Amino acid sequence: MSMDLGFALLFLLAAVLIGGLIWMLFNLRDYGIDTTPSDPIRGYCPICAAGLRKGEKIRSSVVEIGNVEIQTRIKGCPYCLGEKSTRKRTCPVCKANLPVDQLILAISDPRVDKRKLAIRGCKTCYPQGF
Ligand SMILES: [Zn+2]
Ligand SMILES: [Zn+2]
Repeated sequence: MSMDLGFALLFLLAAVLIGGLIWMLFNLRDYGIDTTPSDPIRGYCPICAAGLRKGEKIRSSVVEIGNVEIQTRIKGCPYCLGEKSTRKRTCPVCKANLPVDQLILAISDPRVDKRKLAIRGCKTCYPQGF
């Protein structure tokens, strides 16, 4: 009876050890595969230059003018629009300070590439766009 218990314990110990070994192997394999950063920077905020990762989107409103022009008014990103944000917001064209309620205008041509934005400027340096 005590022998059976001994074997049972040994078996349990072996099972735990093998289980641990398999777990370790899987972990090592995970480390081996995962060489790229899991959360790379995908773009930069044109107003405050913050690096933006997945889910951190630039806030903007898009107006299509017929099918010849798309006007994108960029408000900023989660970093420079937050209530407690102290990030410096500047117009990428005239380098003027850009208050939180101000935005910049970017134009793209849907006939070429609607994602290819050409930044025109802010209300100060490109008033004809506002
Ligand atoms: Zn920003
Ligand atoms: Zn400007």
